[in-house]
Amino acid sequence: MTANPDPRFHVYDTTMRDGAQQEGLNLSVQDKMHIARHLDDLGVGYIEGGWPGSNPKDTEFFALAAKELELQHATLAAFGATRRAGAVAADDPLVAALRESGASVVTLVAKSHDRHVELALRTTLAENLAMVRDTVQHLRAEGQRVFVDLEHFFNGYLDNRAYALEVVQAATEAGAEVAVLCDTNGGMLPHQVTDIVGDVAAATGARLGIHAHNDTGCAVANSMAAVLAGVTHVQGCLNGYGERTGNADLVTCIANLELKLDRPVLPEGRLAEATRIAHAVSEITNYPPSARQPYTGVSSFAHKAGLHASAIRVDPDLYQHIDPALVGNDMRLLVSEMAGRATIELKGRELGFDLADDPARLARLTDRVKELEQSGYTFEAADASFELLLVEEVEGARPRYFDIESWRVIAEASLAEATVKIVAGGQRLAVIGEGNGPVNALDHALRQAIEQVYPDVAQFHLTDFRVRILDQGHGTDAITRVLIETSDGKDSWVTVGVGPNIIEASWVALTDALTYGLRAHGVAPAAS
Ligand SMILES: [Zn+2]
Repeated sequence: MTANPDPRFHVYDTTMRDGAQQEGLNLSVQDKMHIARHLDDLGVGYIEGGWPGSNPKDTEFFALAAKELELQHATLAAFGATRRAGAVAADDPLVAALRESGASVVTLVAKSHDRHVELALRTTLAENLAMVRDTVQHLRAEGQRVFVDLEHFFNGYLDNRAYALEVVQAATEAGAEVAVLCDTNGGMLPHQVTDIVGDVAAATGARLGIHAHNDTGCAVANSMAAVLAGVTHVQGCLNGYGERTGNADLVTCIANLELKLDRPVLPEGRLAEATRIAHAVSEITNYPPSARQPYTGVSSFAHKAGLHASAIRVDPDLYQHIDPALVGNDMRLLVSEMAGRATIELKGRELGFDLADDPARLARLTDRVKELEQSGYTFEAADASFELLLVEEVEGARPRYFDIESWRVIAEASLAEATVKIVAGGQRLAVIGEGNGPVNALDHALRQAIEQVYPDVAQFHLTDFRVRILDQGHGTDAITRVLIETSDGKDSWVTVGVGPNIIEASWVALTDALTYGLRAHGVAPAAS
């Protein structure tokens, strides 16, 4: 058995209470027992089991946990409210439920925002302070440890700093171990958290915690900012569960703390169980795990067979922020659907080529497709270009209907002019084409030139044109991919071109389109 977590830093899970507020998430008593065991296995310090006394299920969970739940690392915490206004803590039935829950730690929720005290609690600011003080003192006297969650703390601080600080003082002076600053509405940004936590720590000297919601997309960032500003207690939920946009993802917080801030917060060796446990809990909650979840997602360390795939094979550290094994995850290399040998063989058969009888050729072809896909090509939609590749591989070369001498395009506001010089059937042909855009002009010029030797081309026309700018990233320029659909009035075919700009990419796709069309029409290359 590994050592218990460091008491100087609390990792506090609220999956079973705050996380269960997530829309559509319902946990049975048995589900909670399973989740608690997983959390203990992960090595968190505290597991908030629910609110005993507020509903029969949570009361039952604490009763069952007291009998059957054996925890190695974690301490079970019961969540509940301070005594009612005007009541005596010892006589309040909800406080009694906390006292009798069997949990050695109670986390009391208290108001710290003056307007919430007056509008929601409908009591005075002084009575709210007395409610915090009395309830903490009572539970402490009964032998329980107490943490206090200060609801809406950050908004309260911004509206009435003095009162928010008074609540922190009242809680800690009465014996609360930690005053947890809650961003209940989730509206804070890290710089605000830094400033406020720093000020509260300096003004009160209290041990502080953070409870962040993700409404600004900053729950984890806010938690880290709070740690750097001095909190030593972090609350969160597995898989970022929680109401609205969720709570801080506890596993992401833990991994950041251990791997980025060099603060070991779990017993040694437990972080490597994180991915397994995060996924096991999503089986229980019946919420499919997010593939893009930091650290534990199946895509967190997945690299598509693109420009950097080959470099990854040499040195994975070049493209990964950590070794995935540290959180129990794996690196994955995604090879595009098209590039698998079996897929190419199937595709070849579909186009009338038997590739199975020559494994070496199939391997060559597969490599070529992969290489082209890595440079931006896609053959999923461009059957005609793929077929020309097959022809090259099977017949040694594609039919050579024309040789290109040169081409250029001049584009003005609404008119473009293209000049194409080719050699075909022993003739040198120079043609100028016009169009309402550079690609259109190029298409006209090319077809007019080739038509003089191959009359079939007169039937070909461009029916669809799609452009995609591919962001290459990592310091290289974007490249352009063009897909062109051509029709002869009966059949249509799609070709693909890739280049540094739209015109060069289109040129490749246009010349492929003509070559494919002539071959499909059974035209033989004219002697040159
Ligand atoms: Zn919350």
